[in-house]
Amino acid sequence: MTAKIVIAGSGFAGFWASISAMRVISQANKEDSIKVILVSPRPNVTIRPRLYEAKLDNMSPDISKQIAAAGVEYIAGKIEKIDSDNKILTINLVNGSQTTLTYDRFVLATGSQLAIPPVPGFYEYGFNVDTLEDAQRLEVHLQALKSKPDSHARNTVVVVGGGLTGLESAAEMPARLKAILGDNVNIRVLIVDTAPAPGAGMGADASLVIQQALSECGVESRVGLRVESIDNKSITLSNRECIESNTVVLATGVKANTLTEQISSKRDTSGRIISDSYLHAKAVSGVFVAGDTVKAPTDDKGNYNLMTCQHALSLGRVAGHNAAAELTGIPLYPYNQPKYVTCLDLGAWGALYTEGWDRRVCFTKNEGKRIKQEINTQWIYPPELGRDELFAIANPDYVIVP
Ligand SMILES: Cc1cc2nc3c(=O)[nH]c(=O)nc-3n(C[C@H](O)[C@H](O)[C@H](O)COP(=O)(O)OP(=O)(O)OC[C@H]3O[C@@H](n4cnc5c(N)ncnc54)[C@H](O)[C@@H]3O)c2cc1C
Repeated sequence: MTAKIVIAGSGFAGFWASISAMRVISQANKEDSIKVILVSPRPNVTIRPRLYEAKLDNMSPDISKQIAAAGVEYIAGKIEKIDSDNKILTINLVNGSQTTLTYDRFVLATGSQLAIPPVPGFYEYGFNVDTLEDAQRLEVHLQALKSKPDSHARNTVVVVGGGLTGLESAAEMPARLKAILGDNVNIRVLIVDTAPAPGAGMGADASLVIQQALSECGVESRVGLRVESIDNKSITLSNRECIESNTVVLATGVKANTLTEQISSKRDTSGRIISDSYLHAKAVSGVFVAGDTVKAPTDDKGNYNLMTCQHALSLGRVAGHNAAAELTGIPLYPYNQPKYVTCLDLGAWGALYTEGWDRRVCFTKNEGKRIKQEINTQWIYPPELGRDELFAIANPDYVIVP
């Protein structure tokens, strides 16, 4: 009988998990007895790290050729139910029907989504850049502003949340708005955060650089404040300040995909399953977790992966390898990724590149921007390669950031 490795999600983690699993199966000459099946709504990797940008071309490259070349089967659908006791998945197919699929090993790589706090108006009036559709909706709205009469509300964008996504969205926005509304319009862009300073979560040195960059880009900050409510023409803050704005962009953090709730394992406050170093969901057999659905140690110094593409690219390779290793009888590989970097796009000012968990500032402005552009246009894209070239870079110890 043929054994099955089913991988849920074709993001950064799921794509590499499927290639990595096939690599092990091919090396063991077990293609006839073990198959890898990738399940996701579309055979694409959405480049979520770039969705704060204005131009949204090539943000969801098709991976059909690569997975077919590697010998991965593909099912267009969404996993609806995980029965981990009986190793059965229920899948809602994109053609509207439902099917079930048994598995021998399952890799959950269904990512994350924006966590929207229960603030009045956020669901009805908030924009965001979490999915390609969300980012397109924001761009259509921004383009439509030019047909509205000139007003403070039209010319003002407020970004809620001063994490990396909020900072990148805000820093990009003045140039983006000017390109739409014209140079002579009195544009305002603000970032609102509960933290004491913009970028405070990145440490004192990085935060100072971020403050300088925001100010040079023309972004105002409102810190140490919560949002009380929003509607289609204003946003009210916890200090009672009311800012007229037709455009509030939510960058309020992410939580793991809700399928994690169907696996009876311990989860962290973001909903991620806490795994062992082989990326097993600890309390159930045959289930691996990768990307934004897992919390795993990156080293022996007490650091854990973050919900980043940088970590997902490695976690996927390790989870796919280990799922196939268990079925082929080779040793499992313990996930480790000691090097951690951050590259934050700060609009017209440039970009900030830091190294280490203490985020030492290494490159700023144009130097940082060159690295960011390389990351955003090359490093994170699924490479258009054939089977052997893909297998050559799908090893679990592949170093994502040299
Ligand atoms: C605006 C923005 C900026 C970011 N910037 C950075 C950055 O600068 N650097 C960085 O490292 N990270 C960044 N990130 C984070 C990064 O994008 C995520 O950490 C990364 O996408 C996680 O990869 P993943 O494979 O776990 O999940 P995802 O990329 O979210 O992929 C999940 C996949 O699962 C599929 N799926 C969902 N539900 C189901 C289901 N029920 N059944 C089957 N398939 C399903 C989806 O369709 C998708 O294919 C950013 C994110 C955003 C939104």
